[in-house]
Amino acid sequence: MALLQREEWYDIARRTNWTPKYVSEQELFPDEMSDPYHLPMSDWDAYDEPYKVSYREYVKTQREKDAGAYSVRTALERANYYANANPGWRSIQTLFYTAVPFVEYASASAFGRMTRFGKGAGMRNMASFGSLDEMRHCQIQLSFGYENLKHNPQIDWAQKSCHSNNWAIIGARHTFDDLEHTRDVVSSSIMTNICFETAFTNLQFIAFAADAAKEGDYNFSHFLQSIQTDESRHAQIGFPLVKMLVKSGKKKDVQKLVDIGFWRTWRQFAVLMGLPMDYYMPLEKRERSFKEFMEEWVVVQFERQILDLGLERPWYWDIFLKDLDYFHHSQALGIWLWRPTVWWDSVACVGPQEREWLEKKYPGWNATWGTLWDTVIANLVDGHPEKTIPATLPIMCNMSQLAITGIPGKPWTLRVYTLDYEGRRYNFGTEVDRWIFLQEPERYKGHLSAVDRYVGGVVQPQTPEGMLKYMGVLDQGGKDAYDYSWIAPYRESRSVAE
Ligand code: MN
Ligand code: MN
Repeated sequence: MALLQREEWYDIARRTNWTPKYVSEQELFPDEMSDPYHLPMSDWDAYDEPYKVSYREYVKTQREKDAGAYSVRTALERANYYANANPGWRSIQTLFYTAVPFVEYASASAFGRMTRFGKGAGMRNMASFGSLDEMRHCQIQLSFGYENLKHNPQIDWAQKSCHSNNWAIIGARHTFDDLEHTRDVVSSSIMTNICFETAFTNLQFIAFAADAAKEGDYNFSHFLQSIQTDESRHAQIGFPLVKMLVKSGKKKDVQKLVDIGFWRTWRQFAVLMGLPMDYYMPLEKRERSFKEFMEEWVVVQFERQILDLGLERPWYWDIFLKDLDYFHHSQALGIWLWRPTVWWDSVACVGPQEREWLEKKYPGWNATWGTLWDTVIANLVDGHPEKTIPATLPIMCNMSQLAITGIPGKPWTLRVYTLDYEGRRYNFGTEVDRWIFLQEPERYKGHLSAVDRYVGGVVQPQTPEGMLKYMGVLDQGGKDAYDYSWIAPYRESRSVAE
């Protein structure tokens, strides 16, 4: 029997919908899971996904992608890339393979809810492909990551991280639970598809794939690109929704979702991508700076997309642009200092040449972050690495769950934005984080940051060792990835001076 062409049947099939008889529409699609904005059913029936694909086509393309990625791996198996890689690149891989797969896996559930509770048949159809995508992303990353377990036991965090109470994981969970897993499908589609996937996964998978290719890691580069082609497809699920909501007079609601979703994702990605791109990546292999990648892939493209959709830039756009100059630098320094609290090896990468590069890309770097690194370097040259590990815990933001940081000196930007709510003091790293909390205190108020858990006695025994044990890193925390060899030029210039 001859097959019909897709265009001959697709429009009928993708609009398959029915009127419930045995339950009310409210029971079938409860507001809290489905659409609290009450878009009319006629709008939902007209939901028009920009990217159209049939199941047959989907399976064929995905099969080819997988076959491509796995055959590159087989071809390169003997090259033993990871074992011989530069320590900075190994840390990038370790961080990526251990922090990303569980977010991918959880996304399968977010798309599963869109498949069940989306009121538009086209949305349900696209979301079911999204679920399958996210399962593939998790599986391929676990499979590629675990290849390296024999070279580095830290890779086991690919499975372990999501079950841990490590502070970095608490932050990722808090963010993605908020955006992807605890809201109705309209809200979570806008936050996930528009903010996380449209704005940031290009940075993660295309910009980073360019870095990987330059480093000579074709395996990594190839499979990152195979993931991104999926992301760009299901990222489009949110666009028709935004248009429908704006048309129905709900622009204010959408704008708020975008403002929250964008900021929360930005803070996570500043760590996940900012450190690798500006510090972990060996200098001679860097494609561009994190800020340059952000400007191209996020600032220009995301800005254009939301303006095209009839939305505005988030109200904090100026704060965000300033953040591009300093936030990830402070996190890089902080995570290096508190390196025993994370499971991967931290990269300082602040030798004289690296500092020259940082100063060129971020004018003023030496006068701000450089002065703090000078103290670290002096302690290392003096033979006191123990003095570079803080004896205290940082103040953590009750929204991003990251350490609260800022620039010392002039202008002094380090401050804590506090809020007293129902008898509890909350600390925030920026006014944006505090604003997000205030949009829905009920959602956020019960959560304890890693430091809250320590101070409040959840962590027992209440000792530094107890804390490391609670976070899963006692005796297995990160070290300096280069075993301090990067201080050699400073040691030499000191002995010349003497
Ligand atoms: Mn994914
Ligand atoms: Mn995705």
